[in-house]
This record gives sequence, C-alpha cells and structure tokens, in this order.
Amino acid sequence: MQQAETISAIATARGEGGIGIVRISGERALSVADAVFRAACGKTLAETETQRAVYGRIVDESGAVVDEAIALVMKAPHSYTKEDVVELQCHGGAVALQKTLFLTWRAGARSAERGEFTKRAFLNGRLDLSQAQAVMDLIGAKTERSLKMAAGHLTGRFSGQIQAMRRDILGMIAHLEAAIDFPEDEVDEVVTDAIEKKVVDIRNKIRKMLDTAQTGRILKDGLLTAIIGKPNVGKSSLMNVLLREERAIVTDIPGTTRDSIEEFVNVGGVPLRIIDTAGIRKTDDVVERIGVSRARAYADEAGLILALFDGSQALTAEDEEILSLIRGKEAMVLLNKSDLPAVTTDEMIRDRTDLPVFPLSTATGEGLDKLEAAIAKRVYHGSEEGGEGGFVNDAKQAEILRRADGHLAAALRTIGAEMGLDFISIDLRSAWETLGELTGETVGEDIIQEIFSKFCIGK
Ligand code: GDP
Ligand code: ZN
Repeated sequence: MQQAETISAIATARGEGGIGIVRISGERALSVADAVFRAACGKTLAETETQRAVYGRIVDESGAVVDEAIALVMKAPHSYTKEDVVELQCHGGAVALQKTLFLTWRAGARSAERGEFTKRAFLNGRLDLSQAQAVMDLIGAKTERSLKMAAGHLTGRFSGQIQAMRRDILGMIAHLEAAIDFPEDEVDEVVTDAIEKKVVDIRNKIRKMLDTAQTGRILKDGLLTAIIGKPNVGKSSLMNVLLREERAIVTDIPGTTRDSIEEFVNVGGVPLRIIDTAGIRKTDDVVERIGVSRARAYADEAGLILALFDGSQALTAEDEEILSLIRGKEAMVLLNKSDLPAVTTDEMIRDRTDLPVFPLSTATGEGLDKLEAAIAKRVYHGSEEGGEGGFVNDAKQAEILRRADGHLAAALRTIGAEMGLDFISIDLRSAWETLGELTGETVGEDIIQEIFSKFCIGK
C-alpha cells in the first residue's frame, strides 16, 4: 500500500556531522530522487535494482552541483515504510543538506510530519503500534537495559505476549459461539469451566506484565532522584563520581539528543534523573543555599532520595532534621568520607533510622559498588534481568492492560452468575478489543496521530 503523497525530510540529527541523510518515501520517491540526483554511471534510480547504493551528485534545476552523494534505493515493499524509499546520503553540511531537501520539495515531495515515516511503517503493517513506539524509545534509550527494553519492544517481544493473549481470547469466543448453537446445559458447563480456567490464566499473565510497569517506566524515563544533605557532606563529589563512572550511556545512536541524556546518570544500568543536576555539578552549587526547606520539597517529588552525611563529623541538628524528613520515604542513607576516621558510625545512623545505610567514600570509591547494586536491585526488585523486552513501559499501556483485565474479571462474574454464554462472549470481546489498542489494531486515527506527533522529524 502506498500513501498518495511522497514525503521527504532530513533524517539525521541537526548540526554538522560526517554524513547527512535526506529520506524520501512514497509513490514518487524514485522520480523525485531522479530529479535531484545524477548517478555517475548514468542510470536513473528508477532503473536501479532495489537495495542498491549508487554514487553520484545532487544537482539543482540548472544542473549545478550541490553536493556529492550516495543514493540508497529501497523499492516497495523492501523498505522501512514498505513504500518506495530513497535515502540520499550527502556530506553532513547543513546548507547543502537543506538545499537538497528543498530540491526534493520542488520536485514534488512534501515535508514529512513528525514520525510520518514510522507512521507509514505502522499503517502499511510493517510495525505494530507498540513496535512503532519502541522506535522512539530506542533513540532515547539511556542505559543498556533501557536499550534492551526498547529493542525487545521493537522486535515484537512485548506485542508477541499481547497477540498470544488475543489469540487465546478469540479461541474462547469461537468456542462459545459454537456452543451457543448447542443449547444443552451439560455442554454449557463443560465450556464455561474450560473458559473460566483460561480467563484466570490470562489474568495472571496480565498481572505479571503489570508488575513490570514500574521498572519499565524507570528504565524508559529515568528514576527521579534527589541528592540531599547539608553543605560539605559531598553531594557534588558524589555527582561527579557517578558521572565519571557512567559507563554505558548510549550516545552513539544516530539522532540521540545529547542534551536530555546529560542530566541522566547510569547507575547499575538504571538511569537516574538527578534533580537539579546543574546545581549539584557546580562545585560551589546552589544546593547549599537551597537548604533544608527546598530539600523537603525535592524529597516529596523524588522517586529516590540519596541522603548524604559526613561520617568524619558529628551529626548536627541539620542532619537530624534531614533524617527525620526522609523517614518512611524511598530513601537511602549514604555515610560519606569513610576514608577518614569515623566520628559518626553507621551503627549510630542505624539507631536513628530504619532506612538502609551505605558507608562510602566518594574520594576513594569505596562502597560505591554496594550502593550501585542496591539501587539496581531496588528498581528491578523481583523481575528477572533479561526480560526487559517484555516490560510494560508506559502509563498508557498499563492503563489499557488494567482495562482489559477489568473485562476479564467481568467475564468471570458473568460465568459465576450463570448469565448465559452470549454474555460471556460480550465480555471477552471487550477484552480482545481493548488489548488490540496496544498493538494498534483497534485504535482510532486520533490516538495514532497523538502518538506519532511525539516523534521527531525524519523518523
Ligand atoms: P557538597 O557541599 O555537599 O556538595 O560537598 P562537596 O562534594 O563539595 O565536598 C565538600 C568537601 O568534602 C570537598 O572538599 C571534598 O573534597 C570533600 N569530600 C567529599 N567526599 C569526600 C570523601 O569521601 N572523603 C574525603 N576525605 N573528602 C571528601
Ligand atoms: Zn556541592
């Protein structure tokens, strides 16, 4: 299936780069590309075989050379959008790239909307909706584990689970429809018993998936973390150490927006989104001036509080105040400067709080591995490592799963009330339709529009 209009956009990140790509997709992609590209061999791109790279030049209407380029020809359906696609790989210069894009518009393409290439891939059946969303997550992935999760979604690990459930439900509906034609009570009971078991089974699967939602969201969006403590306990030092240890931040994927990654710190594979990073990173930072009242506000907002104390000093009233404000919160107590003789010991801290206490030294690095492991364990809790590809990673997905589960619960109530097979069938159908919203099979154009509008141009 080809969309009527041919679209084009710059597919690489803004700014200077080694190469820049203008991507063209649609029915007229080949003729548009042929209008702006001259192959060195003299062949047109329309005559070129699919999946070929052709060397040549970008030229304007007067024949003047704009840039050297390689044209990649991917004919329908062997392309990202399943339409005819040409990618013009130019030198990365911003002006030449923009000019090339302009020329494709003059040749009959129009500017692609945000996410329109991926939207076409979805509409043409190449990706389902959760896979299409994963394209964005893949670009924005902040740690290796986040990347695994996005890649798992993209390759259909998440949607595979949904599709299996939908197939099971459809099977039950077919079974019910067949039984409805046999109005024998004994048959009904055999059928409803079997269906009851299967529905319980699917509900368990949904519950297990929902159990991954919190971890999935943290892997995708980061865990909002506040580092608090009175002046001079080592907040900036901790931040610097975490930044230095940052190992697997993914930055070499094309299109990665580095700005947004920079406020993330990778700790044990978990992206921590540190509140007021800029403030903490400066040695003479504003955090000191912010004081305990702001720390209190931050502590309420954060998903994780790292409260720092200086073990080489006696606890002060300010420390006591911080200990009391983090009571009962998602917090870890870090007893810093363990390389110095201890004045405040971890036993002394444990007498004052039930929160986990980590002696460490940002100067020598001692104790950081334990902290890192504890953070990873807290975020992953029971969920198995390696299962990321099947995690629920978005609030909307979780909400859809809960709604589907509600319909399955209703089906069980209908069975319990012996209301008749056709009523069960109605509940099951609602569950089947609801799950289809995850793969995009049963969603409206407005929702699709909203999802793709969050993409960047050229994707
Ligand atoms: P902040 O005010 O809480 O941000 O604390 P800083 O990170 O600016 O550190 C205050 C002082 O404590 C600096 O002189 C650091 O070098 C020192 N410091 C931080 N962590 C350690 C540590 O683990 N051991 C030692 N000996 N000194 C540290
Ligand atoms: Zn500081």
